[in-house]
Amino acid sequence: LAATPVVVEGLAKAYPDGHRAVKGVSWRAEAGQVVGLLGPNGAGKTTTLRMVLGLITPDEGATWVRGQAVTAGAPVLRKVGALVEGPGFMPHLTGRQNLRAYWAATGRPDEEAGFEEALEVAALGGALDRPVKSYSQGMRQRLGIAQAMLGRPDLLILDEPTNGLDPPQIAAMRPILRAYANTGRTVVISSHLLAEVEQTCTHVVVMDAGEVLVSGPVEDLLESHDTSVLVTARP
Ligand code: ATP
Repeated sequence: LAATPVVVEGLAKAYPDGHRAVKGVSWRAEAGQVVGLLGPNGAGKTTTLRMVLGLITPDEGATWVRGQAVTAGAPVLRKVGALVEGPGFMPHLTGRQNLRAYWAATGRPDEEAGFEEALEVAALGGALDRPVKSYSQGMRQRLGIAQAMLGRPDLLILDEPTNGLDPPQIAAMRPILRAYANTGRTVVISSHLLAEVEQTCTHVVVMDAGEVLVSGPVEDLLESHDTSVLVTARP
């Protein structure tokens, strides 16, 4: 268990207005897996990922990353690459400068190859040298994914990574995430699109109304006759 990249046990969270966004969810993610939290808007995916990343404190339950309990600022979180609800870029700096600044602060600046690899993920071409304030949502999103991958963290957590991307850009992201996990790393994404999870993920955790409806290998769920639960994860 100590080596399991992510173990989520009974996480629950209510917001101050009393809304119970997450009602006790459990799942785990192993090395080599791309795990997709799938569910409609409001299912509790973002709230779950924010708890996993120590950004908000659960009311109940806990998360362990490689056997270490997650709390706000836990050292283990330094080795996690994350994109949650849009990264905060410095708008007047170029995409390259933004990545450089982040890389210098949190990456491994001695490994130039890792930086160049991230630039390829961003696939921004000449726009890399234009200010981020001129970027479309899709371009910012790709820069955010690249930023999360800087330093090649063992665990990558991306909330709705394909938000703002067009279909070809979504298709381009799939082999990148699969290849990333295939090196023994772990990727967790959230999505409200069944097709995206089906094509990108090895495992799926279907959520609705703050609960896990079903989870397991993607192919098992697709082959099972109980497709009604997947229909529940309506876009
Ligand atoms: P989305 O794709 O819309 O982000 P989600 O599955 O990620 O959906 P959450 O963002 O976790 O879902 O939201 C779950 C529920 O909690 C929603 O009903 C949402 O309105 C509510 N919620 C989220 N953040 C807050 C907040 N800060 N205060 C009150 N309620 C919130």
